[in-house]
Amino acid sequence: MLSDKKHEGDFVNISFNSKCEISKDTFVMMAGPCAAESRDQIMRTAESLAELGIHIFRAGCFKPRTDPYAWQGSGEEGLKWLDEVRTQYGMLIISEVSNFMNFAAVESCVDIIQIGAKALYDHSLLIGSGKSQKSVLVKRGFGATVNEYLRMVEYILANGNQNVMLCERGIRTFETSTRFTYDLCGAAVMQDITKLPLILDPSHAAGNSKFVVKLALASAAFDCDGLIIEVHCNPDEALCDKAQALTIAEYKELYKRVSEIISLNGRRIV
Ligand code: PEP
Ligand code: MN
Repeated sequence: MLSDKKHEGDFVNISFNSKCEISKDTFVMMAGPCAAESRDQIMRTAESLAELGIHIFRAGCFKPRTDPYAWQGSGEEGLKWLDEVRTQYGMLIISEVSNFMNFAAVESCVDIIQIGAKALYDHSLLIGSGKSQKSVLVKRGFGATVNEYLRMVEYILANGNQNVMLCERGIRTFETSTRFTYDLCGAAVMQDITKLPLILDPSHAAGNSKFVVKLALASAAFDCDGLIIEVHCNPDEALCDKAQALTIAEYKELYKRVSEIISLNGRRIV
């Protein structure tokens, strides 16, 4: 198994540019809104996050909504705004592919392809990402065991791409008081048995901005390789995942606290 720690060395370092590398000395803070809603929303959010020193900006353009009548995302127009973010602020872009029809468009725009929890079993996305030169972040499906998840991730590795990040974003359990159950036990196992970077996503697990900060602080102490967090310039008006979006001010405060915690583990934020 390519993901196995016994195969070729201990940890997959991913180097994006001179400012941003994922390694055992760094801690990557990916941030941005759930969805690219308008040019203004994207540029305003990106400007504040760039000022803070964020290097990887997230925003989905093709949203895999549960309700087919809900807003489905800004599509290719949104990808153009993300391109503008890269040019204007020099940030790297992560955005999700929701099905193979949008794979080529997303892949050509982004620096990191995101495969979402609901798409974990889409073999066309896994194989397509495996053949891509871009890095990939694959989220754990909320109904997948750690083993099932890693078997799916292996499709990407087996097709030639080793620049893969794991992401725990909560699983479905009998507990319904939060959106999902943040499985740090499973995350610990993933870190123990694979050599892939582990990014934690407290936003989708909590589903409520009130709890995102606590989970993010616990994740920083957990010594994962980074966080992906939803931040919106005006959460009250968010079109998708509104309840879990942090304001810029909340995120700035969190960033400071995370930075203190990870320095105890010998890491620095990138
Ligand atoms: C997202 O990142 O906005 C998203 C849809 O996440 P998930 O795939 O974890 O539900
Ligand atoms: Mn979201």
